[in-house]
Amino acid sequence: MNSILQHDLKNFEVILEKAKQQGINFLNNLDNIPTSTRIKVDINRHLNELGLGSEGALTEFNERLAPLMVSSPGPRYLGFVTGGSTPASIVGDWLTSVYDQNTQSVTSQGGNSALIEFETISLLLQLLELPDTFLGGFVTGATMSNFTSLGVARQWFGKQLGKDFAKDGISATINILTATPHSSSVKCLAMLGIGSQNYTTVKTIEGNREAIDISDLEKNIQNLNGKPFVLISSAGTVNTADFDDFKAISELRKKYNFWWHIDAAFGGFAAVSEKFKHLVEGWEDADSITIDCHKWLNVPYESAFYLIKKEHVNLQIETFQNSNAPYLGNPLENFNYLNVLPENSRRLRALPVWFSLVAYGKEGYQDIVENSVSLALHFANELIAEGNFELMAPIRLNNVCFTLKGNHNQEKVNEFLTILNDKGKVFMTPTVYEGRKGIRASFVNWRTTEEDIKIIIEEMKISILDLEI
Ligand SMILES: *Cc1c(COP(=O)(O)O)cnc(C)c1O
Repeated sequence: MNSILQHDLKNFEVILEKAKQQGINFLNNLDNIPTSTRIKVDINRHLNELGLGSEGALTEFNERLAPLMVSSPGPRYLGFVTGGSTPASIVGDWLTSVYDQNTQSVTSQGGNSALIEFETISLLLQLLELPDTFLGGFVTGATMSNFTSLGVARQWFGKQLGKDFAKDGISATINILTATPHSSSVKCLAMLGIGSQNYTTVKTIEGNREAIDISDLEKNIQNLNGKPFVLISSAGTVNTADFDDFKAISELRKKYNFWWHIDAAFGGFAAVSEKFKHLVEGWEDADSITIDCHKWLNVPYESAFYLIKKEHVNLQIETFQNSNAPYLGNPLENFNYLNVLPENSRRLRALPVWFSLVAYGKEGYQDIVENSVSLALHFANELIAEGNFELMAPIRLNNVCFTLKGNHNQEKVNEFLTILNDKGKVFMTPTVYEGRKGIRASFVNWRTTEEDIKIIIEEMKISILDLEI
């Protein structure tokens, strides 16, 4: 064994203790760590001949690279839709690295950590009050979950025409209908060879809505003259957290032949609250659902899962079967994740989720979700009271989409956001909604409190002064 590795092995406890302390320092200091940085570091490092050992690497990391770390797990990082990490999820995440399992099979002698993934999916179904008619698995993010789901949808579509697209390639136009797809779904259409432009945009409901207009959807379906199609619907659009009407879509299933996919990356968590579960009513009838865990479930990146109806497992295997896989037999009995999703080798991604669900239970997540929504409302009220801002849409859940008041200030929106974000106390993302420039603040982090809103509004006031409007 290399002597430096040997030294590290002997000192392992000391090394891990240092890493732990560093983690604690970071997390305990999140309030003071900037939410953004423009620091540039010289990254033309030459690889040293002789290793520095873990402690040497840690020292160098702290000197050179740690300043790049922003407080994205902190309470005022409202950009994108970014959760923090609960304490229990960090425990699970660290242990995932320690155990370093290759989570594939539930039956192999080489390790059946996939049973933990099965159990975690079952806990998630219970949390979201979804039936166990879904088979689920973990992937890196909602993008890959959409990819997995739409990959199986593509295979299903081929089957309707008596074709096997996975084997023979795509030889027909795949009909896709959608109203407000997340950009990642469009990216998936490109990756799946369907084509990022090859979908039909269905109208949204009139009047500041992003949800699909059911009667326009039905019109578009009738234009297809009985041909099958794939519907990509939304449970929580990123700008205004709008939801398609899943009960109405369920009704359409009785009349038409389509694959129904729901992107519920963050909006799916509406299901954990009595107050908001009506938003997802009817979603259990979908063929596939995408849900992110590194957003509202507040576990570290990279964590998301897909849910696909068990009845489609053969289509799923046709789509993703590893060509070296031995004879499968009953795919549900001789289950192996490498045959049902894009990756072969994969870490035990379920463990952080398992820890967090077991640690905080249904009530813990209900509290996180309801707290996020009430903070979004509180923030929106404070924005209006401040006087210089206007909401671009009503607050439907946890996202606040707003802009500078008055069309004459449209040109200043991005400048304002840059000034605000550069202060490092809060981070939000720019957006365009209904043709106007806006700003989006998304509340999902378990740490955020009313005190944070106070700080944020203060920072916004100062930024307005800096802007000199
Ligand atoms: C965030 C998001 C995605 C993409 O998720 P990643 O985890 O970044 O891959 C897809 N759809 C919706 C609705 C989202 O909010």
